[in-house]
Amino acid sequence: MKTIDDIDVTNQRVLLRADLNAPMKQDANGVMQITDDGRLKASVTTINDLRKKNAKIVVLAHLGRPKGERKPELSLKPIAKRLGELVGTPITFIDDLNGADTLTIVNALKPGEIAMVENIRYEKDETSKDATERQKLAKVLATLGDVFVIDGFGVVHREQASVTDIARLLPKAAGRLVQAEQKAFDKVLNNPVRPYVVVLGGSKVSDKLGVINNLISKVDKLLIGGGMAFTFLKAQGFEVGDSLLEIDRIEEVKQLIKTAQEKNVEIVLPVDVVISKELDGSAPVSVVDAHQIPVGQKGLDIGPKTSELFATKIRDAKTVVWNGPMGVFEVNAFASGTKTVAQALANSDAYSVVGGGDSAAAIRLLGLDESKFDHISTGGGASLELLEGKVLPGLAVLEEG
Ligand code: ADP
Ligand code: MG
Repeated sequence: MKTIDDIDVTNQRVLLRADLNAPMKQDANGVMQITDDGRLKASVTTINDLRKKNAKIVVLAHLGRPKGERKPELSLKPIAKRLGELVGTPITFIDDLNGADTLTIVNALKPGEIAMVENIRYEKDETSKDATERQKLAKVLATLGDVFVIDGFGVVHREQASVTDIARLLPKAAGRLVQAEQKAFDKVLNNPVRPYVVVLGGSKVSDKLGVINNLISKVDKLLIGGGMAFTFLKAQGFEVGDSLLEIDRIEEVKQLIKTAQEKNVEIVLPVDVVISKELDGSAPVSVVDAHQIPVGQKGLDIGPKTSELFATKIRDAKTVVWNGPMGVFEVNAFASGTKTVAQALANSDAYSVVGGGDSAAAIRLLGLDESKFDHISTGGGASLELLEGKVLPGLAVLEEG
């Protein structure tokens, strides 16, 4: 995979596909404000390295899913302003890709200067299923650059005009963020130091079966919390009350438990759970044995004994991958399992990788020190697909001649 050190970017117009899809909220004056600029910060290294190399940078990015419509609340304008502050130089904003002066603005860039094109998903061809439509847009984009750099890890699992089609038209390379993500996942997928522990949680077991199937032949221990744990408990014959349950996945889960035994992989399930009648913390909360969840109650977090058990297993590991919160961490009463596990991971000497959008959000929301993790992925869907063992189109295209 070529990086920005392997292609000539000096005095070149570099089309940089970044992932700047930050969560936004309307303030009291109706102005859109960024609520978490993590993805913007993650894009700074590549931009600054390109500037040092005297590149002229044209940023391509998306916000939300406008589906080809110019939705004003999904404008990249506030993102361009904030990113400019983070890199330390203002960014020229291009309102309309198809505007009469777009090429003039781009061609007037001096080395080290940056322009950003408005939300690329305002163009309906960006996400079209029809390759010829995407290629049409990619050709327009290609007029704005001499080389293409992909740094938006959050979109590399997508076959889209500004991700894959454009890469086939220009000399191409990976940015620093894509390099870092690639390196971290390569290590945990192909080169883990043992003992290797994977901690899985989140809501639905069906979302994570692909990950478990791929990792079961690689790991030593699989710790399972979150909503998905209840389908495992049910598969072992225990009642789970009103907890999240995917009845139609029980057979698959039984098979997984068998495969794990054959491969000598230890599956660790909750021994106690935090239960309540309500998801929002408004009803009484208690802790019960995981095998004795009463009728009418929902398991909403792993219990304190389970948290301690998981923390011990993490402490003994040399490599840990964590994907999916241990409970409904958004509600204080059900956040403690996620917090204990994340803290154990932060304190451990193991090489630690966090994948999954909500898991990364949990680390920030719970106020944990992000620098204590070796890698927190910026791509939710992309990181899951890598853990499933899939080839991602936006990375594969970098290997094409
Ligand atoms: P990630 O984005 O990290 O892959 P998921 O999207 O799979 O994680 O799951 C995150 C969601 O799972 C959170 O919103 C959390 O509230 C929910 N969740 C975790 N545990 C439970 C549970 N026991 N019952 C219901 N929802 C849960
Ligand atoms: Mg999620």
